Formats: sequence, C-alpha cells, structure tokens
Amino acid sequence: MEWRVDSLAQEPGASSAVTRLVQDAPLPCIVTVRHVAEGGGFCGTDDQRQQVWAAACTAHPPAAYVDVELATYMSDGIAGERARDMSRLGASGNGNGPRVILSFHDFDGRPAGLSARIAEMWSDPSSAVSKIVWTARTPRDNTEAFEVLVGRAKPTIALCMGEHGLMSRVLAPKFGGFLTYARSDAQGTAPGQPTVEELVQQWGFRSIGPRTRVYGVLAHPVGHSRSPALHNRWFREAQVDARLFAISAGPTWESFKATLLELLSLDALHFSGCAVSVPHKLNAIRFVEERCGVVDAVARCIGAANTISVAPNGTLCATNSDLAGIRDPLLRAAMAQGWSDGLAGRRALVLGAGGAGRAAAVALACAGAEVTMANRTTDRAESVAADLNASLRSCATTALSIAARSLLDLGATRFDVIVQATSAGMSGGDAPDANPLPETVMLTDGMIAMDVVYTPRMTPFLRRAERAGAHLVEGWSMFVAQAAQQHRQWTGNDPPSTDVCMDMNADSVSL
Ligand code: NAP
Repeated sequence: MEWRVDSLAQEPGASSAVTRLVQDAPLPCIVTVRHVAEGGGFCGTDDQRQQVWAAACTAHPPAAYVDVELATYMSDGIAGERARDMSRLGASGNGNGPRVILSFHDFDGRPAGLSARIAEMWSDPSSAVSKIVWTARTPRDNTEAFEVLVGRAKPTIALCMGEHGLMSRVLAPKFGGFLTYARSDAQGTAPGQPTVEELVQQWGFRSIGPRTRVYGVLAHPVGHSRSPALHNRWFREAQVDARLFAISAGPTWESFKATLLELLSLDALHFSGCAVSVPHKLNAIRFVEERCGVVDAVARCIGAANTISVAPNGTLCATNSDLAGIRDPLLRAAMAQGWSDGLAGRRALVLGAGGAGRAAAVALACAGAEVTMANRTTDRAESVAADLNASLRSCATTALSIAARSLLDLGATRFDVIVQATSAGMSGGDAPDANPLPETVMLTDGMIAMDVVYTPRMTPFLRRAERAGAHLVEGWSMFVAQAAQQHRQWTGNDPPSTDVCMDMNADSVSL
C-alpha cells in the first residue's frame, strides 16, 4: 500500500504522524510526498519533505519504499543529496531502510524524450525501482508503456493515466510490471485508476499472466459500452484467460486503422480480436480486407462487421453477430407466440437503415419474413434495400427480398413484427424521447415489437408497444445474443450463461 502524505507533510507534527502510519500499516508500504509540479499536493519546503523521509526510514519496521521524483533526486540541493543517501543506504541492505522508487510523471501527455528519461532512471545504480507515468493521448500509448516494461533493465512501473490508460494499469502483471495503482477512495491519486475492488473482482488482476489474451470493443464514443462487463464476466466464469477493454478509436477510418495496427503490432500483447461498434462497422470490413483476411458471408451480405477475430497464425476474420443478436430473440419470441413456422411468412417492418437496420432486415428475410424497411431518410432505405437485395440474390438459395417504403407512406398498415433499429430513444443520443414509428401504424397484442436500443431498457417505442399489449423484445436481449455469438467465435464454446443477472432499473442496465 502507498501512503500519499502530500498534505500531511506540510502540517506540524508530520514526522510522528508518518511514523505511526508506517508502523501501523497492515502491508509493506510506500511513502510518497508528491510535489505539485508532478501532479501532487505538496508545495512545502525541502526540509519538510526530508523530515517525512527520515520518519519513513526510522519507523519500526521502516517503510518498504520511498517514492522520490527524478527531478528532486538529480537536483544539486540538500533534498537531492538526502534522497541519494537514502537510496544508497537502502541498496546496501545494511541499514534495513526503505528502497527508493525513482519516479517521473507527465500529466499533459507523453513526455518528450521518454526513452532517455527511463534510461536515465535505469542507469542509476542505487534506486530499486524506476517508475514512469504519463497521460495517454490515445489508447495507443498503452503499448509504449508495455514496451518499456518488456525492455526493462530493473524493476519498473510504466503506466498511462486518464481515460485511455486503463489497459496499462490492468495488464501491468502481463508484462512484468513491478506494481500497479488502484484507488481505495472515490478520488484516487491519479486520473483513470480503477478501485481496488474493480481491479481484483472485475478484472481478475491476480490471475493475469504473460499469456493472458487481450480483446477490445472499438467504438466512438465507447464509454457507455457494456461489452467489457459482459465479456469479462463470461471469460471469468468460463475460466478463459482473457480480458476485454473499451478502446476509444476516434471517429475516422485513419484513427480506427491506426488503433488496430498498434494493438496488432505488439506480439506479446496477444491481441486476439475485438467487438466493433458505431461508427466503425464498415471500417472493420475494410481493415480486414486490406490485411488480406476473411470476411464471412453474413458480414459481406449485411455490408458491415461487428466482430474481428485474430487466428493464432495472425489471419484476421470479420463477422457480424448483430444478425444472430436480432434473429435469436425474435425466434424465441415467435415460439412464445405459438407461431409454429417461426417468422416465416410474417409481415415485418424494420425502422432504420443503418448497421442495425441492415442486420435486422437480413435476419428477418433469411428467416422467411416479408420485410419492409422504412427510414427517416427514405432515399437511404431505398438504396440500402437495393444493396441488400443484390447481396441476398448472390448468396441465398431461394429468392428473398426487402421492400423499402417511406415512413409517411406506412399509413395504417399492420405488421406481425416491428424492429425499431434506429438510434432514436437512446439515452445520451440526439433524440432520447423519440419514437420513429408513425402514430398511424397499428400495434396489436398479437404482434412482436423489438427495440435494438438497450439504454434505457424501456424506450418510447417499447412503451407504446407495451400499451398495445404486444410481445416485447428488449434491446438487451439483442445485446446478450450478439455478445454470445462473439464469445463462441473467440473461444469455440457457448458462454456459461446467457441468463445474465442484472442490476436493472428503468433508465439503465448494468451488470
Ligand atoms: P447507424 O448506422 O448510425 O444508423 C442510425 C439509424 O437511425 C439511421 O437509419 C438513422 O436514420 C436513424 N435515426 C437516427 N436518429 C433518428 C431519429 N431521431 N429518428 C428517426 N431515425 C433516426 O446506427 P446503427 O449501428 O444502426 O445503430 C442504431 C442503434 O442500434 C444505436 O442506438 C445502437 O446503439 C443500437 N445497437 C444496439 C445493439 C444491441 O446489441 N442491442 C447492436 C447494434 C446497435 P437516417 O438514415 O435518416 O439518418
């Protein structure tokens, strides 16, 4: 454990307080007085800092480590001299005193001359541990931290702070990192720290090793994604040595490509695949094609992929589990309705012509339904339907077709199945209160109404369908079904349980 005594060090009586903290610590401890210049709260005098170090050294037993910033350690003043003395004494083993962690922090981004700085710390003969920490500008910075650890010349801590840095904190043991930091309170000591409980329970920190496989969910934005919680839970329950991280890949093709290339470039990361979400489902196909990988028939037919897998020989494969994510819950609902032929012959309406709309239309058409696609932008529905019909003609053995209609032309048409596949109704989106289904369209108690949006669980569309007595299929069912397909793709096995226990309320779904 680390005692951060930045503020305490400036109080009268700091020495005796620090002595007590060290002596009463239930674990070997690090004592740190972090200066404001390196993101801490200490702005006192050199003398105050030395008194804390002296207390850490003379406690019984003494602190295991004292963290000293590189700038102070190398300085000509008295603080530098004391720090170097403490380091030499710790290294000699004679004094039974703390050993020194030599540290460098950059809160603004990747430090200039990162390699030179870490080399300077490694070359110091008496400090025990070298620590370099910086704010990740993108997820790609994590791999540089891993490369520092792989090339270490002595025990080393290399971590990235901020929203993009979690991977470096969790995977530190995979690369032989000396330690990682997790917070015990709400605030923590640096941005991006998980809590101790999250690190140990959710991330299975204690069982991460050199062979742990790494997966991601790449999207922009990605913060709302429940994929890490669900996949990591399944990995844990199935005892699969793998972890999945939320990775923000900026909105452009270039950003998506650069992120994936970086993750694939470090063999020791064992990057084995990713879920892909908005806005990168077309980019996923393009990336896999550029790398001479395989795009499976479903992804090709839909024209979008939401899953990339990396085979042991490095071959990439793009697939689309959204189709199964929509088909499987709909077939279960059809069974519950007593429809003996499943969805065959049923009149189905798909609202939306984006990635989810395309997957829904193909899933329904392949299950034998008569599909109509309607979209806010009618031209888009028409061109997407034409594309999908061409794809279906080239890969289906029987004639399947999808019709396109304007939302306004739907009139009082009745449908057996309606799939709401737009982002309307999504909390945090542009139109959280919207229901794109025109009021004229009849909803009945004999029909199935599915929404792909899963936050909140009950969308405006589902509320209206509930009032009409329709059989509801929530977006959460799709989310679990498409993730189950990804789990099969990556591990070769069914997930341990798709009956996922959730802490749910009307506005959110959390695992
Ligand atoms: P997308 O490719 O960006 O397409 C968005 C679609 O929504 C377009 O058809 C767009 O119409 C329509 N739309 C957006 N705002 C609208 C509004 N206010 N009123 C009417 N139509 C509107 O997105 P996507 O990949 O298809 O995703 C759609 C939704 O499905 C998202 O909320 C996503 O989170 C969710 N999703 C859920 C799962 C799951 O597992 N449950 C899986 C995939 C996706 P225009 O063409 O007129 O712009």
